[in-house]
Amino acid sequence: MRLKPCKWCGRPVEQRRWWRPKRFCGRWHHVKYRFTSLVMNVVDSF
Ligand SMILES: [Zn+2]
Repeated sequence: MRLKPCKWCGRPVEQRRWWRPKRFCGRWHHVKYRFTSLVMNVVDSF
């Protein structure tokens, strides 16, 4: 079993499917990450 750190909090995440790696420990960290990158894009465009 491989472990990869969550992109948001750095917690190791179990990789059960090698063809579709999980980069976040939970759905909310995925949502937060996407939301933050969206906000950054909007701020950049000003
Ligand atoms: Zn996380």
